[in-house]
Amino acid sequence: MSKIQSLRGMNDLLPEQSPTWQYLEQKIKDVLQSYGYREIRFPLLESTELFKRSIGEVTDIVEKEMYTWLDRNGDSVTLRPEGTAGCVRASEQNGLLRNQVQRLWYSGPMFRYERPQKGRLRQFHQFGAEVFGLEGPDVDAEMLVMTARLWEELGLSEHIKLQINSLGNALNRAQYRDALVEFLSAHKDSLDEDSQRRLDSNPLRILDSKNSQIQALLDTAPNLHDFLDAESTEHFAALRALLDSAEVAYEINPRLVRGLDYYGKTVFEWITDSLGAQGTVCAGGRYDGLVEQLGGKPSPAVGFGMGEERLVLLLDAVGAVPDSVDLYVDAYLVVAGEVTQQALRCSELIRSQCAGLRIQNHCGGGSFKSQMKKADRSGAKVALIIGEDEAAAEKVTIKYLRETTEQQTLALADVINLLNQL
Ligand code: ATP
Ligand code: MG
Repeated sequence: MSKIQSLRGMNDLLPEQSPTWQYLEQKIKDVLQSYGYREIRFPLLESTELFKRSIGEVTDIVEKEMYTWLDRNGDSVTLRPEGTAGCVRASEQNGLLRNQVQRLWYSGPMFRYERPQKGRLRQFHQFGAEVFGLEGPDVDAEMLVMTARLWEELGLSEHIKLQINSLGNALNRAQYRDALVEFLSAHKDSLDEDSQRRLDSNPLRILDSKNSQIQALLDTAPNLHDFLDAESTEHFAALRALLDSAEVAYEINPRLVRGLDYYGKTVFEWITDSLGAQGTVCAGGRYDGLVEQLGGKPSPAVGFGMGEERLVLLLDAVGAVPDSVDLYVDAYLVVAGEVTQQALRCSELIRSQCAGLRIQNHCGGGSFKSQMKKADRSGAKVALIIGEDEAAAEKVTIKYLRETTEQQTLALADVINLLNQL
């Protein structure tokens, strides 16, 4: 019988890779929580309408990337392609947005039917953060300072650069859209197929076309910043001043528009050039209109999503994962002879008295020599050996595997002391 394979673009995470993922996830959680963010969890599956109404009907995601089907009841459901929509839905439905400020984070798989390639999968993983109830640029700045701190913690600062832009309010964007369409319509022959299609459906997306001819054409196009109202201009200026004083470096990219409909005012992307085309590792912005658009009482909001696969690739590419991350046990217990009962009791006592120590018991028998080989390969710092002599004397032999210290046979209490100093 033929073997069943995983679906294209849906990866398994193997034990060799999971330490890097856990390392990354722990760092992200620690940084988010050090700014008072709290975790929220919401379903992977939501009604299709939620994503259509929030992300926008004429976006890449809704037009061609969603996993959507009719459930047994005939209702249209969709696997979440991103987290903001579900986070807003859950927060609103559970009353978290009633005149309250919320700083929230979430993480987990997202699903998009895209062409799989390096850093682009069909099931990928994001960490997201959303803040509700604050409209000023102070919280936008705090978010960027927070992400800058995360890159610092991960040893990635040199490899990731910040781009920011302001999209103004909905009216500014509508007026700009008209001006842009007028300009581009006059140059219709120079547009590629993709841009011609977008000219009718989502003209702002033409701004981030990867086609260099289009980019050259855009040099003479109207500039979005000339269409911003005073409030958006001030908001953006204040954000820049805060970033300057916090010494977070950035580049202003007036063509940064992001692919989702709900953004306004601040948008940003953290980009690396170490990963080729899939260089955006974290992206987000302000979406003050979305809560109301989904039926809630208006609440300003700002957030971002970061792609874990791309961050893992980057950590590996620049060698930023500390060696110790791969080591999954500190001590390996060698069971030499008919002493399984004593070994099991002894390791339980050690676990009770050495908080956080990771100890693996040898199971399955085998010679002393082969057990010592396994101890070495496990990466453990020490082997603990219980043979018949040790068992009879209620002692344990501790052998250092990574340093030249002599091995010693000691009472359990003394071994526990040593283990607590590892
Ligand atoms: P891109 O331009 O690369 O397609 P996007 O604008 O569609 O990105 P967002 O919706 O802003 O991406 O998602 C936030 C982050 O999630 C991205 O910056 C990226 O790091 C990650 N991401 C998005 N789509 C994928 C995917 N298919 N596979 C892996 N990571 C992804
Ligand atoms: Mg995309």
